[in-house]
Amino acid sequence: MKRTLRRSMMVMVVVVLIAGGAGYLSYRIVTEHNSWINMPYNNHILSEGGLTRAGSIMDRNGTVLARSVGGQRVYHEDENVRRALLHVVGDDSVNIGTSMQTLYRTKLTGYSFVWGLGLPTSLKSKSDIKLTVDADVCKKVYEAFNGQNGACIIYNYDTGEILCDVSTPAYDPNAPPTITEENEDKYEGVYVDNVVGSSYTPGSVFKLVTAAAALKYIDDIDTRQWYCEGVKNVGGTGKSAQVHCNDGYAHGTETLSDALGNSCNIVFAELADELGADKMTKVAEDMGINTNISIGDITVKKGHYDVKDADMNQLAWSGVGQFTDLVNPMQMAVICSAIANGGKPVMPRLIDSGSDLLSRVSIAIGGGKGKQMMDQTVAEKLGDMMRRNVTAFYGEGVFNSELEVAAKTGTGEIVLQGNGERTNRNNAWIVGYCKSTEHPYAFAVVVTNVDGYGATYAQPIASLALQACMDAEK
Ligand SMILES: [Zn+2]
Repeated sequence: MKRTLRRSMMVMVVVVLIAGGAGYLSYRIVTEHNSWINMPYNNHILSEGGLTRAGSIMDRNGTVLARSVGGQRVYHEDENVRRALLHVVGDDSVNIGTSMQTLYRTKLTGYSFVWGLGLPTSLKSKSDIKLTVDADVCKKVYEAFNGQNGACIIYNYDTGEILCDVSTPAYDPNAPPTITEENEDKYEGVYVDNVVGSSYTPGSVFKLVTAAAALKYIDDIDTRQWYCEGVKNVGGTGKSAQVHCNDGYAHGTETLSDALGNSCNIVFAELADELGADKMTKVAEDMGINTNISIGDITVKKGHYDVKDADMNQLAWSGVGQFTDLVNPMQMAVICSAIANGGKPVMPRLIDSGSDLLSRVSIAIGGGKGKQMMDQTVAEKLGDMMRRNVTAFYGEGVFNSELEVAAKTGTGEIVLQGNGERTNRNNAWIVGYCKSTEHPYAFAVVVTNVDGYGATYAQPIASLALQACMDAEK
């Protein structure tokens, strides 16, 4: 009797262990099937059973960018379209983390926890994603980069639709590179979508933040005048505390609007010191510099503004977009959307709400109103000053005048991270928006690691990209 009891007790223990183990496994499968499915040892789902049977990805005009034919993933026939949209669409690998084919791999393949890959065809057919981007526009912009590295983002600040989203360097998804020690420099950062995944020294485009702070906090800012002699000590004494304007060029008598047009370093350095660390930080944070915004399921890399341990000269340099300042291109386009929309941005989105995938699965597509970034009066004054930058300083001829472009250029001197030393290599920037109600585009362009200015390197790409968007919507 005792032995029987002991035996049944042991059987019970074994049963409990098996049941518990099975339960735990089921729990793990239910809660983690999405990450499990993307594990390298599940390659069959990624390759022959996966993307090769996945839904198509199309641009806003229905041009197919990626589809599955006869067990193969096939990309657009034009190599420069493939390269231009590499970071948005993705390739067969999962190396580009923010791409559609990585983010939505299991959803595109119709993989389901209940059905596995055997989802009924009727459901599986609803796996196509339609994007808001225009493939022809992206191709033209990719070609305009002409081998230089950087990013170009243009989106409609009324609807949130992203029209142009290009990150370079890129490769052909039909021939992904094998990265070795010899060629790793050439491919450095190639898996990162610079539009959403990189942050850079902003230089003078950060003057929009300093100007917003000045407009908010300084009562006589509209009537204030400065006199720029080209070089001045700000926040310290001696040569190391000198702030220079462009090669020591003296801008003379200036209002705030003139100083933004001239991109006068001295005025904005002095403004940052006058405002102080707390007010500068408050305005930078209200504008989202230190926040990760989201584009649907894509988390955008945040910028960096931190002056809590800065001395007065460093605070001065932070106001002209140097010191340790960093911004992301998408973030700058969203700030321009806020300026265009009375202080509250319409957020960007990459997925068309008519995508048939959305009838089967729920995913975050983004868009909609964002958080108030500045007061309406500040937004209006900033917008008018940015418009005057183009008409009175850059030249209306550099953009199609129908677009009524409002913009700010910048040349961020690349700072060596770690020791804070500035190099003689630059990030060339232009950010802005079109005041034209027919072409409501917000944009940001950065060309990295160049020996020259935003006006020389970034502005021509922005000009071409905006014209391409305009032509595409005719
Ligand atoms: Zn100056």
